[in-house]
Amino acid sequence: MQVRQCDFCRMPYQSFGNKICKDCLMQIDLDFFKVRDYLYEHEGAGIEEVAEATGVTRKAIIYMLKEERLTVTDGKGGSGGYLTCESCKRPINTGRMCAACKNEVLKALQPNAPVSKPKPPPAEEREEESFKGMAKLQIKGRKRL
Ligand SMILES: [Zn+2]
Ligand SMILES: [Zn+2]
Repeated sequence: MQVRQCDFCRMPYQSFGNKICKDCLMQIDLDFFKVRDYLYEHEGAGIEEVAEATGVTRKAIIYMLKEERLTVTDGKGGSGGYLTCESCKRPINTGRMCAACKNEVLKALQPNAPVSKPKPPPAEEREEESFKGMAKLQIKGRKRL
């Protein structure tokens, strides 16, 4: 157990391995159900629309994207400006890093891998993300029942 800063609300808390505190974890779970249910009914809704209709904050929706619970696409291979790789800044549709950078990290985690360049520091968290309102949200992996 260690004290760390919640990835979501930035408050210090006692971590048992989670990246966010218990309160945020519960809130994000509740929010996720709302977003998921809304997207089942309104396939391809944008982040702005979902936030407005469900009352879930954009910040929470972005967090769900980073946690790979949702994907976002602008139909042109980008995310409409919502997400970029935290390592190389390329546009991505879900998660925190692009496939290439994820691969690098995985390689670096393997004990016998040759020592590669040190991991770059995490990207500065931008308080204001650029919301273009064009990109569509999707539930990751699963189609509606
Ligand atoms: Zn928190
Ligand atoms: Zn990358």
